[in-house]
Amino acid sequence: MKALKIDHIGVAVKSAEEASKIFKSVLGLQTEEEILEDRKLKVVMVKIGESRVELLEDLDENGTISKFIEKRGEGLHHMALEVDDVYKSVEKLKAEGYRILSDPAPGAGGTIVAFVHPKDVHGVLLELVERRKNDE
Ligand code: ZN
Repeated sequence: MKALKIDHIGVAVKSAEEASKIFKSVLGLQTEEEILEDRKLKVVMVKIGESRVELLEDLDENGTISKFIEKRGEGLHHMALEVDDVYKSVEKLKAEGYRILSDPAPGAGGTIVAFVHPKDVHGVLLELVERRKNDE
């Protein structure tokens, strides 16, 4: 297992369209919208060089992003690292005693993602992202 770079920073927002304005109009960045049906999320990816900001809007008022905003307001939600193999990474983390919140599953843009419990990462919800070789 090897982490390659910061893939993106996830931000919980009430409206992804509203939140994307500063990035598009003011900072001149490109954005891409995607609906994740199985996770009931609207995602706007803001491209910044090799990294991205992921604006997350919940389409379910009882979903995890809705609950996060209810509790703490809008703001930084998670940090995502690109890894070479998400399945092996999860296996290794589990063997070391880290708690995995969700096993590898499809994420935005054809990726496979898994989440590590924030209490095991010093208060930061950690997402592991693997890009499939044939993407982009
Ligand atoms: Zn993410």
